[in-house]
Amino acid sequence: MRLLLLSSAPGILQEWRAAVARAAPGIEVHGPDEEVPAAAFDAALVFAPPRGRLRRYPNLKIIFSLGAGVEQLIADPEFPDVPLVRLMSAAKQRLMNQWVLYAVLRFHRGFDRFEELQRAGRWEWQGSGPGAAERCVSVLGLGDLGRASAELLRDQGFQVRGWSRSPRSIDGVHCLHGPAGLQQLLPDTDILVCLLPLTAATRGLLNAELFARLPRGAAVVNAGRGQQLVLEDLRAALDSGHLRGAMLDVTDPEPLPPGHPLWQHPHLVITPHMASYMPHESAIPSLLDNYQRVLEGRELLHLVDRARGY
Ligand code: NDP
Repeated sequence: MRLLLLSSAPGILQEWRAAVARAAPGIEVHGPDEEVPAAAFDAALVFAPPRGRLRRYPNLKIIFSLGAGVEQLIADPEFPDVPLVRLMSAAKQRLMNQWVLYAVLRFHRGFDRFEELQRAGRWEWQGSGPGAAERCVSVLGLGDLGRASAELLRDQGFQVRGWSRSPRSIDGVHCLHGPAGLQQLLPDTDILVCLLPLTAATRGLLNAELFARLPRGAAVVNAGRGQQLVLEDLRAALDSGHLRGAMLDVTDPEPLPPGHPLWQHPHLVITPHMASYMPHESAIPSLLDNYQRVLEGRELLHLVDRARGY
């Protein structure tokens, strides 16, 4: 394989080269500015390439997305007619699991309230709240990341519901799908976790109408994409006390501009889009497996369906 790496992240070419040299020494990795003819590349690993850029490489058999969200790649009308796949690894799932578990426990065990009490100089415990078995956590998106998080929360003893576009089945998780499934799930949800991809159908999904269908005192957690949540609606729901709190890894815009009122909101935690990422070395088995599959004409894993939008 001769792999083209298209990403403007500083140092990424050297890092990938070193990771590939350790794990799969037969593979060559080059940046676009090196003296390798465009026709010599048969695979590409890309993050936000300029529009139409991939058209310059006529012999690509497969394109790997470095980012988990592929909305920008899909939006390129000149994207070549080459399979686009996302890279996935257990390490990436584990990172998201950790972030989601932290967010859920923050509300479940009341760490948000203890922070407030501490700021007020109060040492106080009003007894244990509901146990995990009485707490309903709903996970929107049951893909590679959502499914892993739903299973982890189930194993922690929570009542877990999951929501997807098409019907899914996960042991011990009550799975719902489609718009009717979402309406059914909201009224009983104590903590809502969004791990959806950004598509036309999920843009703006977390809005005033949806928040109003959650019970008073529910919490909202978003690590999908910022454009899925309407910040002004979230602010109103937090200010009115309808929502107890929120934790966001993604916002729109990202980052929020300096002075944005949500920076200081007492019931909101914002992390800088760090919930999960792909440690380079962990991605190599997924990359090699899919390359082999494309050579043999077998089904690809994590293949992006451009019509579906993810
Ligand atoms: P997948 O593509 O594996 O899964 C997407 C899931 O969302 C599927 O279950 C799919 O349903 C569901 N879905 C898509 N559209 C709808 C819809 N309209 N209604 C209901 N369900 C829908 O994605 P991943 O799990 O790998 O990643 C999810 C997202 O997480 C990424 O797209 C990215 O935006 C975000 N992310 C964020 C990171 C961070 O650090 N904050 C890091 C990595 C990813 P179905 O099962 O029927 O196909």
